Amino acid sequence: MGYKIPGWMWLACGIIMSVYSQIVNSSTENNMMPFFYVGLFFLAIGIFKIVVSVITNPKVKVAKQSIKEDSSSTENNFKIIYCPSCKSKTYSSYRHCQNCGFKLN
Ligand SMILES: [Zn+2]
Repeated sequence: MGYKIPGWMWLACGIIMSVYSQIVNSSTENNMMPFFYVGLFFLAIGIFKIVVSVITNPKVKVAKQSIKEDSSSTENNFKIIYCPSCKSKTYSSYRHCQNCGFKLN
């Protein structure tokens, strides 16, 4: 958790670094171009991280939902009930008792 830097932070750092280096570059004789490129690099990482998080988050939600639906449907299909006529074990998904043919539900 402590090592996770959010995308917007990379983006903000990149913007500050590149803009600041350009301001310094125009006002002084110092060559600030390496800082400008590092700023652009940070900016690119920020955009990349935001895009990745936007793409991956809905997928995770959908996957979790489908798993939930699957487990609930299997639970319904394999719910063990007892035939009211012959008292034998059967499943709630069956319309008729597998032993005596008694109509269930
Ligand atoms: Zn039965």
